[in-house]
Amino acid sequence: ASGAPRATVEDYLRIVDVRKEFDGFVAVDDTNLSIRKGEIFALLGGSGCGKSTLLRCLGGFERPTSGKIYLDGQVMNDLPPYERPINMMFQSYALFPHMTVEQNIAFGLKQDGLGKDAIARRVEEMLNLVQLGKLAKRKPHQLSGGQQQRVALARSLAKGPKLLLLDEPMGALDKKLRSKMQLELVDIIEKSGVTCVMVTHDQEEAMTMATRIALMDAGRIRQVGTPDEIYESPTSRFAAEFIGSINMFDGRIDEDQADYITIQSPSLPVPIYVGHGVSGYEGQEVGYGVRPEKMVISKDEPEQAHNKARGKIEDIAYFGSHSVFHVRLPSGYKVMANFANQQRWASEGMTWGDEVWVSWGDNEGVVLTT
Ligand code: ATP
Repeated sequence: ASGAPRATVEDYLRIVDVRKEFDGFVAVDDTNLSIRKGEIFALLGGSGCGKSTLLRCLGGFERPTSGKIYLDGQVMNDLPPYERPINMMFQSYALFPHMTVEQNIAFGLKQDGLGKDAIARRVEEMLNLVQLGKLAKRKPHQLSGGQQQRVALARSLAKGPKLLLLDEPMGALDKKLRSKMQLELVDIIEKSGVTCVMVTHDQEEAMTMATRIALMDAGRIRQVGTPDEIYESPTSRFAAEFIGSINMFDGRIDEDQADYITIQSPSLPVPIYVGHGVSGYEGQEVGYGVRPEKMVISKDEPEQAHNKARGKIEDIAYFGSHSVFHVRLPSGYKVMANFANQQRWASEGMTWGDEVWVSWGDNEGVVLTT
């Protein structure tokens, strides 16, 4: 294909310097991504970050202002959507209401002029894949939301696309059904072996479904990684705060040694001690983030801990598996600390209004210079 290097499994889908402007407004800034074959890749970000525009460029519904998109070594830019080996499942599913489940699934195959028997075989394969064989003769309005979604998925996969695009796949489902369908969808997609790029603004959905996530902000990719990489090792305040909740302390690097640093923060009474070096940043303003589940809450002072502060319990939010304590420090900063509900906090002698200690280990936080 026009002298393009052969795609490897690692860069099955390649997005090279892709930019999309609308009347001078940059919706997608020069973006580069390599997506592996068979991967479920999520574009995650808030409203207006450019994730849908990038997805639409992949599908051919938008033309990049510059840059190239390669799929399996072939340049996609000049192909219209219907000539790309790509299928998009829309949030609304766009099922044909007057057609049965099997007719919906067969639609694209018929248009391609496939023979009757071949169509019947493929439809059956797809019905088995999404486990809707028993409902083949029903029309969309006779199906639940989750079943409709599986039909839409079967229809998207019927032609055996090289790339499946999902636009906010859970958008039309209620919360309870969402978490069930997230896992079902992953299961079906993995069984089919198709490479998948999905768009979502929902971090939980991205974490549950994706093998890797690109976190986007203002047309740019801020971080790419597996869900746990992005959660455990965010590289920016933006990433740290977008995914999950975090206690973010503003501070300045004070001591800067090879094997430890200290950070002065007006929010805390003692310098933060970080048990590894981040050298070259002495005097630099940084953010220091600690997840609530890394915070330990105790009635008595934790003698061993470097990092600790005393404060007052202002609120306790119960979440079943854990409770979140909101502890107000003398500086005014409010710390969130999780308490695993295997124990009962009441039996530890802690309740609203009590003075308690929060503490955390030397390597439990992240130092963020951007
Ligand atoms: P959302 O989750 O709200 O859909 P998004 O991250 O998907 O957000 P995009 O739809 O990609 O965002 O839009 C990115 C930016 O580009 C937005 O500021 C949007 O207003 C702008 N934009 C998108 N499409 C067009 C268009 N056809 N003409 C002009 N501006 C556009």
